[in-house]
Amino acid sequence: MNTKKGLTTIQAILIIIILVIAAAGSYVWYSYYTKKKAPPQEEEVTPKVEEVTLIVPRGGIVMTLDPAESYSVPTHEVIVPVYETLLRYDPKNTSHLIPWLAESWEVGKNGMWYVFHLRKNVTFHCGTPFNASAVIYSFNRTISLMEEKGFGPGWVISAIDIEHCKIIDPYTVNITLKYPYAPFLYALAAQWGPLIICPACCKAHATPEDPWAYEYMKEHMCGTGPYMLAEWVREDHVTLVKNPNYWKGWKGKHVDKIYMPIIEESSTRRLRLEEGSIDIGGLTLEDAIAVNGTPGIIVEVVPSLNNLMIFMNTQKPPLNNKLVRQAISYIFDYEGAVETIRHGLGAQARGPLPSALWGWDPECPQYTHNLTKAKELLEKAGYKPEDIKLELWYIETVEEERRVAELLQAEAAKIGVTIELRGTTWAGLNDVLRPGSGNATDAADMAILYWYPDFADPDDYLSNMYYCYNESDPTNIYSYPYFNWAYYCNSTLNRILDEARRTTNFTRRVELYKMAQRIIVEDAPALFIFEEPAILTYRSWVKGYYFNPCYVGTIDFYSIYIEGRESR
Ligand SMILES: [Zn+2]
Repeated sequence: MNTKKGLTTIQAILIIIILVIAAAGSYVWYSYYTKKKAPPQEEEVTPKVEEVTLIVPRGGIVMTLDPAESYSVPTHEVIVPVYETLLRYDPKNTSHLIPWLAESWEVGKNGMWYVFHLRKNVTFHCGTPFNASAVIYSFNRTISLMEEKGFGPGWVISAIDIEHCKIIDPYTVNITLKYPYAPFLYALAAQWGPLIICPACCKAHATPEDPWAYEYMKEHMCGTGPYMLAEWVREDHVTLVKNPNYWKGWKGKHVDKIYMPIIEESSTRRLRLEEGSIDIGGLTLEDAIAVNGTPGIIVEVVPSLNNLMIFMNTQKPPLNNKLVRQAISYIFDYEGAVETIRHGLGAQARGPLPSALWGWDPECPQYTHNLTKAKELLEKAGYKPEDIKLELWYIETVEEERRVAELLQAEAAKIGVTIELRGTTWAGLNDVLRPGSGNATDAADMAILYWYPDFADPDDYLSNMYYCYNESDPTNIYSYPYFNWAYYCNSTLNRILDEARRTTNFTRRVELYKMAQRIIVEDAPALFIFEEPAILTYRSWVKGYYFNPCYVGTIDFYSIYIEGRESR
């Protein structure tokens, strides 16, 4: 997962959706136009007590409200409080899953099927009961929309064999897989892919041309989550209000409403946080450092699963020579990067996995900044440093990527290796990594990738970035998953990743992933630059706010409450 997922397209239709409390106590969606016709007494049902509103700025416009399509952080910030999953990740332990819409589960023979016992008395926002058929419907819809329209996070649950899933009773569902897929439970807790949507609302708006009601659901929401959509002004803000029938109830302290204005610039958010007109900052590292120590503002540094890599094209000379890749790995100044670019907040990555993820190998070898060693390796490979000229591509608007690229260039120059910097856009990066010829030897020499997890399983990192589908055709870019930007193909590693994906024995999986990490580090298809913590910035009156490393960019609003804030 990375920033590319922010680029899926959607039409610019501005629709205001207003939620009105219906007399019966259940909730009904009205469009702006319908609301005008609503009888006035319906609005008077709204309680007069002062509502507590949390103000959280968002970095960009919501592209779609459909959980089967949404695959970007700015959009998902709105999706996640509304739509839920069968399982969730324990924020304190990335290997531990918490029962959510499923209360318990059993793993079938060879990991080929799973039975989930569903929570009873859960309803969607429109009043429709949540049950086994809603689970199968939601998975089918997400996978089908991905297959039909080519968008969305449906791949996360694409191991599901929809045809063979069974409703055992209304609250027991058998989910059968097409092949054994050990990360499955972790994938079911992902914030994109396995979200449960209301079948009744979809079916009510389905047409022969649009059987999944995609056109309707990208502008309307009906989930089981603690918050419901109240208003969406596409270019300006989103407002969520609490779902009074939420299955976890509303005992304890919570906020009634979440107002999410779009404030793109971190400097503006910083100003607003300082004056107290927003509650949560979402600031860049530089701005977070600037507000640190300001009375009334909390800056919290917490472990994340995010890491940054520079891929080297293993199919193209001179980087097809392992010794050259190892030499480049010794050129980079890892500690310097953490000090200067991360202001000390972060650490050199140890291998391809982040240290907060289960399966990470604390003993995995690391490259160090050692120019002498780099020169020796180049010599051993039969290259003079002056003969090495490489292009390094990165996203020019991502400050950290640019600075990492410049640091590598400067260090390489010290021993006579030339690295030319090529800042570009996501589209530009795609062009150089996926050349028209389809041949990896025409692809970019090197490219920077910033990764955060789709789901917290080593498979999400290693199979997406280091697997090879077709070992017999290694120069064909289509022999690789999209994010294997190194075009790295190693049959030993492939077998290990295959086994790790199939076996449900957790201890064996950890063993296999440790072997995989060492093979990857030895072969050096990438420089493992740094892992970085997440930085939370918020007013001290915000309580219960925490970061879950498995859910990058989204917030558990249900846990948040306000204490000691003057009314606005
Ligand atoms: Zn509904």
